[in-house]
Amino acid sequence: MPNDSADVIIIGGGVVGCAAAYYLAQGGVEVLLVEQHGIGSGASGRSGGGIRQSARVSEEMPLAMASIALFPGLSDQLGADIEYVQAGNLRLVENPEYVEPMQTDIVRQQALGLDVRWLEAEEVREMVPLLKQGSIFGASYCPTDGHVNPFRLTTGFYQAACRIGAKALIGQEARSIRQTDAGGVIVEVGEQTVQTSTVIIAAGAGSRRLCQNLGFNLPLTNLCHESMVTEALPPLFSQMFGVFPSGLYFRQTRHGGIHFGGGTSEQSDIARTTGKNLQATARRITRLMPELLPVNVLRAWSGIDSHTSDKRPIIDYLNENVILASGFSGHGLAVAPIVGRYLAEWITSGKKPELLAPFGYDRFN
Ligand SMILES: Cc1cc2nc3c(=O)[nH]c(=O)nc-3n(C[C@H](O)[C@H](O)[C@H](O)COP(=O)(O)OP(=O)(O)OC[C@H]3O[C@@H](n4cnc5c(N)ncnc54)[C@H](O)[C@@H]3O)c2cc1C
Repeated sequence: MPNDSADVIIIGGGVVGCAAAYYLAQGGVEVLLVEQHGIGSGASGRSGGGIRQSARVSEEMPLAMASIALFPGLSDQLGADIEYVQAGNLRLVENPEYVEPMQTDIVRQQALGLDVRWLEAEEVREMVPLLKQGSIFGASYCPTDGHVNPFRLTTGFYQAACRIGAKALIGQEARSIRQTDAGGVIVEVGEQTVQTSTVIIAAGAGSRRLCQNLGFNLPLTNLCHESMVTEALPPLFSQMFGVFPSGLYFRQTRHGGIHFGGGTSEQSDIARTTGKNLQATARRITRLMPELLPVNVLRAWSGIDSHTSDKRPIIDYLNENVILASGFSGHGLAVAPIVGRYLAEWITSGKKPELLAPFGYDRFN
């Protein structure tokens, strides 16, 4: 006999699971969220915080645009200051041979309706005087992109969901998902069994194992991403930055620290930092902004995100009871609010939201 029941069980207390819990609870659905460690303890709380539409693959662009439209209202809706800053994303080009590919990519993104444009090096330096002269050859600029405090975004969704009735089992692992002859599902959570008609697997790096448990061997790969933050500095810039082709990203947090990361992301199930990667990343940012050379790094960390080969998530029903939302490929924070909302809409209306069409798992068949 099951110990408990809920209309929907969400496995994973990352930003995707918490956003889905919030929108489901808002629609009056009885939700139980299961998290094996703590809220935001996976990739979400360790994220770089970039909230960008630019440089996304074409299939994901409409989803990202719809998500960014939600961000300006989220602090008020959730009753939590998520430290959202919509000051644009600059994608700096460090090498002249990448100017033309970047300009071509801007044309592709403009054709999809995104406000993104090319800026010459001097225009970028006017916006960000800290950039060393001669260090870049221009940038793509998307003024509606920005950044957020990823931990506050995740806990903001979680706490708002709980206030409107969502329940949670924290520190408990969902060990297995089993379909019953009666057409429902039993989820084993720690020592308990919980009955439901719908399970959302939003377990990030843990999703692959849960899918295998259901007989789905999906092409999800876990990659480890590293990040760092410096001591607090006076305000220096407000934009989010990406660097092409090195993969460096950075932003200044509300607290004043420069939060930066990127570089090599290795296949791993274990979150760890490597001196080699951290030093290379620090060299990259100080090459662009030598004034940061004497600044102390306070903390380094890493997080594991689930990736797919085409860099698009899988958001799809695996069977009549289980829906998967994973494989966000290192850029899921920005799309999480709309993914949570669409998961709720899909479950309550039975109708698949149009913008989720490119994310079926059968594209890998
Ligand atoms: C260092 C780093 C920088 C990043 N930078 C950016 C960025 O700038 N912009 C951006 O958009 N994205 C970024 N990302 C990616 C983004 O953070 C992720 O795509 C997103 O957070 C994924 O959210 P999630 O809810 O799917 O997964 P997670 O946040 O990983 O949450 C999954 C949760 O499920 C739990 N779980 C797993 N298995 C089980 C189980 N069996 N039972 C119970 N609980 C379970 C885990 O403990 C975890 O808390 C970055 C990621 C990292 C690591």
